[in-house]
Amino acid sequence: MDLSNKVTIVTGAASGIGAAIVEQFLAAGARVVAVDVDPSVELLANGFDAAARERLRTVVGDVRESETARRYTAAAIEAFGRIDVLINNAGIAIIKTITAHTEEEWDRVFDVNVKSIFWSAKHVVPEMQSRGGGLILNTGSISSVVGIAAQGAYGPSKGAVIQITRQMAIDYAKDNIRVNAVCPGTVDTPLLRRSGIETGDPEGFIHGLASAHPIGRISTPAEMASFYRFLASDEARFFTGAVLMIDGGFTAW
Ligand code: NAD
Repeated sequence: MDLSNKVTIVTGAASGIGAAIVEQFLAAGARVVAVDVDPSVELLANGFDAAARERLRTVVGDVRESETARRYTAAAIEAFGRIDVLINNAGIAIIKTITAHTEEEWDRVFDVNVKSIFWSAKHVVPEMQSRGGGLILNTGSISSVVGIAAQGAYGPSKGAVIQITRQMAIDYAKDNIRVNAVCPGTVDTPLLRRSGIETGDPEGFIHGLASAHPIGRISTPAEMASFYRFLASDEARFFTGAVLMIDGGFTAW
């Protein structure tokens, strides 16, 4: 799948699914702006050859802030002249019921998982409009569509990701901007391992999750990234407003 003409912004790029997306998009020839609050995002370049490094820029910033969206938008325009694909992937999870959450936790989960998409829209959509279109992919979750124990703020935040996706798909279709949500089942990433530690039984947590997927296992970041790669390609240009489950059958029980 050739992405050589695709300027792509990826948030949450230092780790897990986002880092796998950066790797696969660079391998497919894309030009990538990798964004993360974790400064280790700047080390990503070390993993690639000189030719790929020329097609990579990094931005350290918190996606909860408008200023970060302004900076990654400017970085893409300055380095590559346009934005073809925006992947709103940064996210956090806290394993608690609603009543156990503090107000600060609730706001933090919603600001990282939801408000970040608002800020990205405010800065990136006008660029896409002025250049004739683009594609936005938002990372949802199985928690976007089904209730899962102790996802008191995370589940509602990921539900909101779906409605933002639909809203934007409708409002900006006339500008040739397509917007889709990718909803992964459980993926073996640092986020998942941290959630496991929060339960007090990390191994039992992973085992239980594996058996909750009819396919009998959890997924890998690479499996997720290859789906994003397909969606960013011209092969997938009839998708918009779609909620795409990639969940090993989790929501099919
Ligand atoms: P991860 O923790 O490995 O990576 C998330 C990245 O987002 C990290 O590098 C982190 O530093 C970054 N990030 C967090 N807060 C940020 C902020 N305020 N500003 C900028 N960057 C920030 O997690 P992952 O599992 O790769 O998760 C990626 C996305 O996939 C998230 O939206 C998550 O909700 C979603 N997801 C994950 C799973 C799973 O099982 N791992 C399942 C469904 C959905």
